[in-house]
Amino acid sequence: MTDHPATDDIIGIGFGPANLSFAIALRDAMGGAPRPTMRFIERQDRFGWHRAMMLPGADMQISFVKDLVSLRDPTSPFSFLNYLHVKGRLSTFLNLKTFNPSRVEYNDYLAWAADQFSEVVAYGETVDSVQPETRDGRLAAFVVQARDGAGAQRLRRCRHLVVAAGGDPAIPAPFAEHMQDKRLIHSSWYLPGIAEALGAPRLDGPEPRILVVGAGQSAVEIVTDLGARYPRALVDLAIRGPALKPADDSPFVNEIFDPAAVDRIHDAPAPVRAELIAAHRATNYAVVDADLIQDFYATLYEQAVSGVIRYRLRRSTRVVALEPASDGLRATLRDDIAGTEERQGYAAVICATGYQRATVPAILDPLRPFMDGETADRHYRLPLAGAEPRVSLHLQGFSEPTHGLTETLLSILPVRAAAIADTILAEERAARAAIRPAASAP
Ligand SMILES: Cc1cc2nc3c(=O)[nH]c(=O)nc-3n(C[C@H](O)[C@H](O)[C@H](O)COP(=O)(O)OP(=O)(O)OC[C@H]3O[C@@H](n4cnc5c(N)ncnc54)[C@H](O)[C@@H]3O)c2cc1C
Repeated sequence: MTDHPATDDIIGIGFGPANLSFAIALRDAMGGAPRPTMRFIERQDRFGWHRAMMLPGADMQISFVKDLVSLRDPTSPFSFLNYLHVKGRLSTFLNLKTFNPSRVEYNDYLAWAADQFSEVVAYGETVDSVQPETRDGRLAAFVVQARDGAGAQRLRRCRHLVVAAGGDPAIPAPFAEHMQDKRLIHSSWYLPGIAEALGAPRLDGPEPRILVVGAGQSAVEIVTDLGARYPRALVDLAIRGPALKPADDSPFVNEIFDPAAVDRIHDAPAPVRAELIAAHRATNYAVVDADLIQDFYATLYEQAVSGVIRYRLRRSTRVVALEPASDGLRATLRDDIAGTEERQGYAAVICATGYQRATVPAILDPLRPFMDGETADRHYRLPLAGAEPRVSLHLQGFSEPTHGLTETLLSILPVRAAAIADTILAEERAARAAIRPAASAP
């Protein structure tokens, strides 16, 4: 541990797509100036975007035009099109006639962009908390406390903090109390988790029975992947509702992801705002791409024809109890329509139950005495009370109730990133301009 924190002007916590897009926007807006300096802290040991869900055949649910930069600057060298050009795949990609690249290719695009910032990213460090540094009782700087892979503490100081740490796995009862059991897996660590729980696929021995819980895109992707990965597996998909529902990406509805929609939502009275967000939930939550639903339905139909049942869709079904056993986990499944309960053993249980985000991430708790409420302003800045000038705190991805459904997605990353970069740079320039005449006075 060092008692002398390294200092940067701006620190970003997390280096996923949101802070990557911010790093590009900041560098563009600085136009080659050496200050302010930036640093990002990322807990993964290298760049990776939802690596545990890099499933064969999974596509992006967004147009590649909504990449890290194009909505802000279509001429940027960090566009997805320039990535294709650099990689020599522009013409062949066009022949695919799609707006939705594979998730694997998009991760490669993001990693290619992230590599160009490697000198300002501290990989392999997890931020535990952010402490206030005060001068005369006022907040003068943030001290970011992180741990590296060997457990050593790292301290870094900054005046502008941009937190884009993503969501935390949402694990409801009765699963939460069993999360230490390696046979219970959240979708956020699906690929390494299932390999650890079941090992390599076997062509002999008992057929593993696996339960997937959830009604969203990840749940159906995982069911499909399990079937291909473990050709002898029997897979149950338990959903609370009566049917899998399609994601609505029709054009009028999709306007909710336009940059201009953020203004409309933000400026609306709070109850109207909540209604608007609720009215558009079927774009993103507990819904599945229509083509994936179609494929899954066809698979169930083929089973009905052949009589060989490997997949079961258990509708209106809740897991009401879970117990560990020597050979797996025993789940009690309640069918709410039939009013029946059934106990079933599973070699592995996968929670595709989504993510949760606090309004203010817990790592910022020590700063609460200096926070003026928990609501970020239109430019994603959390109001501070008793802070010196040129000290600011910005959040990316935590303001869905005020800024709408784009918050947790990729839709408007470059526009949001520019809003934050411009706010910080305007403040820095104003402060320097105020110092300069005084310094040059006779
Ligand atoms: C499987 C999957 C597919 C998706 N597909 C799409 C899609 O097609 N289109 C779309 O719009 N959205 C999609 N999403 C939504 C997703 O939230 C966004 O794609 C995107 O990841 C948001 O970027 P982010 O940078 O805000 O968060 P994240 O991508 O979650 O990045 C946050 C980063 O912060 C790091 N971090 C977290 N805590 C700490 C800490 N304490 N210290 C240091 N580092 C930390 C994490 O390691 C991570 O790298 C998908 C989500 C999933 C799970």
